[in-house]
Amino acid sequence: MLKNHNLAKAISGVALRMLVTTIESKAAHSGSVVVLVDLRKTSQMCSRCGPMVKKELPERAHNCPRCGLSVDRDLNAAINTLRL
Ligand SMILES: [Zn+2]
Repeated sequence: MLKNHNLAKAISGVALRMLVTTIESKAAHSGSVVVLVDLRKTSQMCSRCGPMVKKELPERAHNCPRCGLSVDRDLNAAINTLRL
């Protein structure tokens, strides 16, 4: 069934929704809250001053020309994710 691209995408979407539902249920049971975050652009947005700093995927460092922040791309994305 996963050879059919459209069907595979639908199955993956259902599986992801089931995972989120299970995590939300477990979190509610333990008194926690699940916050879903759109991760698009989090590695390109400067975590210190905000503007987008375009970079290609192989580029692993975030160097902001505006504020001078220089950190690992993943760390920059993690800081932005926490803020969202
Ligand atoms: Zn900056």
